[in-house]
Amino acid sequence: KTFEELGLHQDLLKGIYDMGFSKPSKIQERALPLLLSNPPTNMIGQSQSGTGKTAAFVLTMLSTSLALGCTLPALIDSPFQALCLAPSRELARQIMSVIIAMGKFTSVQTEYAIKDNLPRNATRVTAHIIVGTPGTMIDLIRRKVIDVSNVKVFVLDEADNMLDQDGLGDQTLRVKNMLPKTGVQIILFSATFPDHVRTFASKFAPSANKIEL
Ligand code: AMP
Repeated sequence: KTFEELGLHQDLLKGIYDMGFSKPSKIQERALPLLLSNPPTNMIGQSQSGTGKTAAFVLTMLSTSLALGCTLPALIDSPFQALCLAPSRELARQIMSVIIAMGKFTSVQTEYAIKDNLPRNATRVTAHIIVGTPGTMIDLIRRKVIDVSNVKVFVLDEADNMLDQDGLGDQTLRVKNMLPKTGVQIILFSATFPDHVRTFASKFAPSANKIEL
């Protein structure tokens, strides 16, 4: 399969080719048709780093933002369309750099929610995609710096690492509970699925398509 055959937006294809990717990796080829289906479905994916999973969920967040008309941010009161949680600031930064590179030819805007990145007095952040760590995300939602009422995609990367750190699993669930109760596509990736991760995943992303690589 080619990236064209996956039905991606022209401006995303430009970004993909600009990054030097010529064809989808195995996980992209399997996950993207499911992730981009209409209506959107939840996904639980088992995948190691190095397989191209980041691009799979980044393309999903960008596609949804494009479909929802990210070209008019000023006209939308709460433009956030996708949230992505990562277990560390470094990973959040890496994901953000992939969003920026793949979205280079779009007007999708992204922002970090990692500690100390946003000014304490920021009143409202206007971006379409926000990537961060759970504690900071909770703080920003509580302070109404970000309004999650229009969120359509919620991604959790490296769920196993998230659950290995004290309190981060609970904080992740707390973020989920702050999102709209319906109409949010939930995507979870984890390299490993010991029992506690499996249990968490099926609660976190109910009725998900499951893919393993
Ligand atoms: P990840 O598994 O998301 O950490 O990605 C691993 C590496 O594969 C990254 O350096 C990506 O830039 C690269 N990559 C992801 N998708 C593709 C693709 N379709 N073709 C070539 N390289 C890719």
